[in-house]
Amino acid sequence: MEFAMIGAGAMGLRYGILLQEAGNDVTFIDIWQPHIDKIREQGGVYVSRDHQDRHLVPIKLETPETYQGDPDMLIFFTKQMQLADFLKRCEHFFNDRQYAFTCMNGMGHIEKLQQYFADDKIIAGTALIATVLNGPGDVDFMGKRGAGKMNMANLTEKPDEMTHRLFDELQKAQMNPTLTTNFKGTLMTKVIFNSVINTLCTMFEIPMGELGNFEKAYDLGRQLIDEAYDICERAGITLVSTREEEMYALDINTRIDMPLHYPSMYQDMIHDRPTEVDYINGYIADLGREYHYEAKTHIFLTNLVHLAEYHRANE
Ligand code: NAD
Repeated sequence: MEFAMIGAGAMGLRYGILLQEAGNDVTFIDIWQPHIDKIREQGGVYVSRDHQDRHLVPIKLETPETYQGDPDMLIFFTKQMQLADFLKRCEHFFNDRQYAFTCMNGMGHIEKLQQYFADDKIIAGTALIATVLNGPGDVDFMGKRGAGKMNMANLTEKPDEMTHRLFDELQKAQMNPTLTTNFKGTLMTKVIFNSVINTLCTMFEIPMGELGNFEKAYDLGRQLIDEAYDICERAGITLVSTREEEMYALDINTRIDMPLHYPSMYQDMIHDRPTEVDYINGYIADLGREYHYEAKTHIFLTNLVHLAEYHRANE
């Protein structure tokens, strides 16, 4: 299959390089000039796994303006606040035949994709796959080959032939996909998971294990999860985990599966980039307002992360 990876950061590189290694034709499209320059200068991207086996992988790289291809599938891995700009700059190569797929964190991206793609061409999901961009042209696929897992669902909740082809390619690339027919519930369950782990670890600049091992971790998570689940119940969203399952997933992921990992939101904070908090805790708070529920803890946490961003900007 022919893919264009829109956004060649940590996750764009991970998905794209693994799909390329599984035999697909992949072109990466990016706009961060130091990254583009470095990749061209070194003839590819340096890839390691858990800081080991650093090796150069040649890739095809274009900017939105230079790309002239007609891929079957566009995979979007930008940060939420970058997506509108990428879409505008890439619009010239979009057509009705193409599918748009993404596993970005947070919510807000689907409405933006809908401005360019028909609902039956949009597939989205969630990725529990830790990846770190060490710097321009240098990425670390955390975990062993085949580590991590992901969910995917059609916006129409009706998988078609192309959905199954994408699923097969992701499986060959060892991304461990699960295909669901609960679009909003799948995405929101991950937003809620991230609203605890990403946000708290970012605010305190700590790895996930430190949160998981903190004696009050359960209480912190419980409060955020209860608010978010109350709101989803009011909004009629059927989440894919119960509250207890979500608490269990938080515990296992922080303490056992990824104790040394810093979430992607943390990577933004330490590089003085804006975080995705408005699309995670902020999104939950906005959804609450729509259903006359004041998500006090999520609002407070969103403001605290912005305070941390503000503090770093003024240091
Ligand atoms: P990323 O920041 O690595 O890359 C996104 C874009 O930002 C790319 O175009 C990249 O070139 C650019 N970029 C990276 N560093 C930059 C810098 N210092 N200055 C300017 N531009 C820069 O983002 P990502 O981690 O690939 O995340 C993409 C989406 O996937 C997000 O929604 C994220 O929350 C989600 N996600 C990430 C992970 C992870 O482990 N990284 C896991 C699951 C989901």
